[in-house]
Amino acid sequence: MIEELSLLEKNKKYVWQPFTQMKEWVENEQLIIERGEGVKLYDTEGNSYYDGVSSIWLNVHGHQKKELNDAIKEQLEKISHTTMLGLANVPATELAEKLVQITPGGLNKVFYSDSGSTAVEIGLKMAFQYWQQIDEDCGSKDKFITLKNAYHGDTVGSVSVGGVDLFHKIYRPLLFDSLKAPSPYCYRCSFGEEEGKCNFSCIKELERMMKDHHREIAALVIEPLVQGAGGMITAPKGYLSKARELCDKYNILMLTDEVAVGFGRTGKMFACEHEGVSPDIMTVAKGISGGYLPISATLTTDEIYNAFYDDYASQKTFFHGHSFTGNPLAAAVSLANIDLFEKEEIIKKLQDKIKLAQNKLESFKELKHVGDIRQQGLMVGIELVKDKKSKEEYPWEQRKGVKVCMVAREKGMIIRPLGNVVVFMPPLCSTKEELTEMLEIIYESIVEVTE
Ligand SMILES: *Cc1c(COP(=O)(O)O)cnc(C)c1O
Repeated sequence: MIEELSLLEKNKKYVWQPFTQMKEWVENEQLIIERGEGVKLYDTEGNSYYDGVSSIWLNVHGHQKKELNDAIKEQLEKISHTTMLGLANVPATELAEKLVQITPGGLNKVFYSDSGSTAVEIGLKMAFQYWQQIDEDCGSKDKFITLKNAYHGDTVGSVSVGGVDLFHKIYRPLLFDSLKAPSPYCYRCSFGEEEGKCNFSCIKELERMMKDHHREIAALVIEPLVQGAGGMITAPKGYLSKARELCDKYNILMLTDEVAVGFGRTGKMFACEHEGVSPDIMTVAKGISGGYLPISATLTTDEIYNAFYDDYASQKTFFHGHSFTGNPLAAAVSLANIDLFEKEEIIKKLQDKIKLAQNKLESFKELKHVGDIRQQGLMVGIELVKDKKSKEEYPWEQRKGVKVCMVAREKGMIIRPLGNVVVFMPPLCSTKEELTEMLEIIYESIVEVTE
């Protein structure tokens, strides 16, 4: 006879959870989420929680948003999936036009995949192959400049351009090399510059690297405005546009990874818009489908596309594709998501919410162990420190970030930290009342754990 296990027992017996030490998981109580509504999640016991990090940076309009549910149901009545190898489908075609219209100028071609990681892989391969195939003698441009503290996903290629040692170090022997430029981390500036007296040494170092190595560099890979998983590190104003100028000057492609920052998170539809930047390659995922279904896109320019456009015999085809490339259900919900941005004036309404969060966060500065507060739109990182004056970090073993999040959970909110950085990234649809309540929970949780 097979013994009937509880859901939690089954989970612990059969599932290997992502980014998780399973010993710790198995030995502790865990939540199983059964449903969601608006900005709340409900577990199998009926408890409700604010979704304070948008189900890891994905959700935009809340859960069970009628228009998004309807778009999926409508598409479901037609077809769930059909391949894009040798065929086209309706919603992915419509979505491509829409993406070209809403992204920065010059990005005219859309290549689909199903996660942020694959979108970055595709961008890397495109950039590499582009230089091999244009007529000039650029075949040796086969390396990338990336940033310290960068995160571009977990597949081997995207890990190669990542710079978070905790996640990436062990895989080093598997990875291709890239040149690592300094992270624009003003609070812990690697050049010892004080905030407010910044000399842009990180940009100068980036220029030095480009000057010395441009003949071998295919592209600069960069998270525009905010390095997300590296600790919500916000770049100083002007950093991104300067990086664009340098790429032009040294004939290097610019690949901006908007997987986390895209679709309104920073207060504009795309982070590049803040500094009038048009990249050569841009990746989007996470918020593209309102956080509903896995789909991503790598957008690029006519110039790059044309370097692949030739007779078959020229052997310039971009040989890349996934089983679920351009999935119609995911494309349909993405179209509905973009419609909602327009109909509900999401970006316009966001501005007051961003200000409210900013005001609320002011009060956090008085806390004894809050070293730095970084905000860009509705992306917030609160860096906890052992000693505010010396900026001494809490030892990682103390896991202060995790503890704060566990206390927040008891108070009815799900958040997930990045080391000692408490992350707040609520769904863009959150009302001012909801934002206020969520920030109060975070405030109290920090006080409880650190004071
Ligand atoms: C999350 C993330 C990725 C990876 O996306 P997945 O869909 O998890 O593969 C890539 N780049 C950035 C900037 C991200 O935040």
